[in-house]
Amino acid sequence: MDPYTIFADIVAGRAPSSKVYEDDDVLAFMDIRPMTPGHLLVIPKVPARSLAELDPVIGGKLFQVAQRLAAALRQSEVRCDGVNLFLADGVTAGQEVFHVHLHVIPRTPGDGFGLRHRATTPPRADLDYLAASIRGAVGRTRPDAASGQDGKWWLT
Ligand code: 5GP
Repeated sequence: MDPYTIFADIVAGRAPSSKVYEDDDVLAFMDIRPMTPGHLLVIPKVPARSLAELDPVIGGKLFQVAQRLAAALRQSEVRCDGVNLFLADGVTAGQEVFHVHLHVIPRTPGDGFGLRHRATTPPRADLDYLAASIRGAVGRTRPDAASGQDGKWWLT
């Protein structure tokens, strides 16, 4: 896959952006096609196409910055009665730009943004079966590991 994304240009200052926050590892700026007014994107400065490639320490920093920006939105002139954090990981999840980014979306009543739950609750046995499968997989990951094969930190 082509590693180039417009976000790399934004980090490097080669493309314009309306910045709201910056530190050594993280940059946050206004989304150019906002879902609601004030919609922000929080990105790592180091390129990572997916969560699999993102250093989990940097992932934690993305959340910390998003948490701070959620507070800032509520104190700013942006209309903000609530906030959604959203991250699309993979094409099927709706990812369009392959440089990890956390959406910070200010919410107001009736703004039209939303995710849907299924109408029915699955049987407990189904939930337990999948929980056991995921628990087993969690045990095989290494969130504290240094970057491994293909930049996937859990493979070290
Ligand atoms: P995704 O669908 O990958 O989760 O979200 C990509 C986001 O990046 C979209 O919300 C889109 O509006 C935003 N975006 C795409 N290109 C640019 C750009 O050049 N500048 C800014 N500020 N946002 C962009």
